[in-house]
Order: sequence, then C-alpha cells, then structure tokens
Amino acid sequence: MIIAIDGPAGSGKSTTAKKVAAQLNLMHLDTGAMYRAVALHILNQDMTKSHIHDHGFITQILDKIEIEFSSETNKIFLNGKDVSVEIRENRVSEFVSEVSAISLVRERMVLLQREIAAGSNVVLEGRDIGTRVFPNADVKVYLNADVNERGQRRFKELVKRGEEITLDEVIQDIELRDLKDSSREHSPLEKAKDAIEIDTTKLSIDAQVNEIVSLIQTNNKTGV
Ligand code: C5P
Repeated sequence: MIIAIDGPAGSGKSTTAKKVAAQLNLMHLDTGAMYRAVALHILNQDMTKSHIHDHGFITQILDKIEIEFSSETNKIFLNGKDVSVEIRENRVSEFVSEVSAISLVRERMVLLQREIAAGSNVVLEGRDIGTRVFPNADVKVYLNADVNERGQRRFKELVKRGEEITLDEVIQDIELRDLKDSSREHSPLEKAKDAIEIDTTKLSIDAQVNEIVSLIQTNNKTGV
C-alpha cells in the first residue's frame, strides 16, 4: 500500500506522515530529506554554486552519493554518515530548491524512492509523490496551510535547534521555496487531481493524523 502526502514547506507533512506511519505500522519515507542530503553534499564540495548547472559535475556527484535510511530510527545517512540534523540547517533549506529543480537529480531520487518503497507498505511525503513518483498511490493527501502559520512552525523548530534567525527571514525563505518548487519545469509542486486537500492552518497534529488514518482505513475497507 502506498500513501502519498504532498504539500509545501511547513504544512505539517513530516510530523503527520511519521505519526500516521507509526499508528498503522507502515514504513515512512521523507523524500525531502533525500533532496536535502544531495544539497548538503554539494555544499560540502569545493565549488561555486554555478557548478550545479554543469551536467558533468552533477553526474559525478550523483555517482558518488549513497543515501540510506533507517526506518527504525528515522535517520538518514549520506555516504555512511548520519546527516539527519545537518540537512535541516538553514543553509541547506536556502539551497535545496535549486538542487531539486535539476532533472538529473530528480530522475535519480525518483528511482531510489520507487526502489525503497517497492513491495512495502509506505507513507511517502514530498512534493511530487502523488503526481509523479506514485501516480497510482492508494491514498493521496495534499496538506496546505497559511504561509504565516507555516513560517511560525518552521521558526519554532529552528530556534529550538539554536539557529539565529528571525520569523520574517523564515517566512521569506518559505515563500521563495514555494515559488521555486511550484514554478520549476520538472515535477513542480502541485496538488494531484485526485488528492484530498487538508488545510492544516487551524488543525492540531492529532486531528490531521486522525483524518488521514481514517481515509486510509476507509480506502482499505472498500479495497479501492
Ligand atoms: O520537505 P522539505 O521541506 O524538507 O523538502 C526540501 C526541499 O526538497 C523542497 O523545498 C523541494 O525543493 C525538494 N523536494 C522536492 N520533491 C520532493 C520532496 C522535496 O523537490 N518530493
């Protein structure tokens, strides 16, 4: 069974997907973490950001990169190193949309996502799961929320991690990322026609989780 949860930054995808997966004993795959790991790897190279438009450079990067997940601990490993915390740093958030817009990167990540999910019961969260990665997913959900609310959520997370940043900067970053993610040429962020949209602006995490769990259970009963 494949459950697709898509939506913009800060819409509550990660927390919700994690809880839905735990409640129904499904695997959880955070595809944003994969794009973040590629962005982090590029940032760690000796290069200028213009290198990312060089086909040869990106091919080399992708050939050398190994991304692994531990579904028990929800950790992500880049070439054997645990980068679960580092990929959430603001410098990665600011850069990741440029990296995820590269078609070579997307092709490789989509292959990997399909490989990891093959034959399993998985909740995948991202931007293009219901539209591109698994267009035949059993349940498709599109989470959305007001940009100020999304900014507040991200701001609290970053402050908790000790980052020095203002709420305005976080909101600006989210708006810019939304724009880049939804206007890119390859697999832009958009709601799949058959996805169920949930506005989480005023919803608690538990309410979001319950709504999705009941969608999945209804789908399971009807066997659609
Ligand atoms: O979900 P998160 O905010 O961590 O995703 C980071 C970035 O990864 C997004 O802003 C987007 O550029 C990219 N992404 C994507 N496709 C996905 C998941 C994430 O392009 N399926």
